[in-house]
Amino acid sequence: MTSPLRKSVVSVPVDHRSSYRPFVSRREELGVISTAERAPHIPKLALENVCLSYATNSHSRLVALKNINLEVQPGEFVCIVGPSGCGKSTLLHLIAGLHHQSSGNVLVDNTPAQGPGTDRILIFQELGLFPWLTVAQNVEFGMRMKGIAKPQREANVHDYLRLVHLHQFKDSYIHQLSGGMRQRVALARALATEPDVLLMDEPFAALDAQTRDLLHDELERIWAETRRTIVFVTHNVREAVRLGDRVILLTFRPGQVKHEYRIDLPRPRHLEDVQVAGSAREILNDLREEINKSIEEEYGLEANA
Ligand code: ADP
Ligand code: MG
Repeated sequence: MTSPLRKSVVSVPVDHRSSYRPFVSRREELGVISTAERAPHIPKLALENVCLSYATNSHSRLVALKNINLEVQPGEFVCIVGPSGCGKSTLLHLIAGLHHQSSGNVLVDNTPAQGPGTDRILIFQELGLFPWLTVAQNVEFGMRMKGIAKPQREANVHDYLRLVHLHQFKDSYIHQLSGGMRQRVALARALATEPDVLLMDEPFAALDAQTRDLLHDELERIWAETRRTIVFVTHNVREAVRLGDRVILLTFRPGQVKHEYRIDLPRPRHLEDVQVAGSAREILNDLREEINKSIEEEYGLEANA
């Protein structure tokens, strides 16, 4: 039997999603298809020899990312894993245009990224939902910021709350919702602005196992229906294999691409699948070397002592 896991440095878009019913966004109903959607050979995102260093208090510089080369294809689901402090969040902030690289290029649709853009949206663990607004108003808020007209905002609130199965909670306040429902509000708010790229920074890390399982199913379905490009950061390798077309493993500081793994498992997948567990084990062994380095550096210990 051939292994579903291929360690590679070549990225080829794959479409596992034929069993999903496509969600037709209003943009597509109107026939507005971006250049990148027509030409899948143009990567949605490309990082070329990207380095990023931070100024430290001791007037030196900390190299967070070094020589990152990465391409993400339109509609691809890419997961990034690596030990704590290896630069995963930095990488997402860079793609979101919230940080600027010290050297190298960050390209979106083959064009250098110029700061934040409404085509890329970052969802992080804290969510940033407003407790004084209802679910519907929270979802509408992102579209207001983008300057979308009211009739379109109302239509999108309706469509995207339905997509995340929260339509009947549209008038609830955030404190009335469970953790998983809050995540779905944040997802609807991000999707309603119709970004091309969703950047997700450990969004499910604080959830209980059952809620996380449900959200994996939801996210996989929504990704398949909306055909967005997703870059998903997690420290949980099994979650990465469960969700990703590819898993990119970063080294401990400075973050560099150590290996990338193509996950050729059929969808929908489940965390308990034997093949998911098997692939995760292989990647985890690779990750463990990097975690050991981080323990040695941060605690001054022999990791295996
Ligand atoms: P991860 O998300 O993988 O845990 P981060 O991207 O948050 O890692 O951080 C990578 C490295 O950069 C860490 O050593 C962190 O301490 C450092 N770092 C992150 N943000 C800043 C900042 N704004 N200023 C200085 N150093 C930072
Ligand atoms: Mg982080």
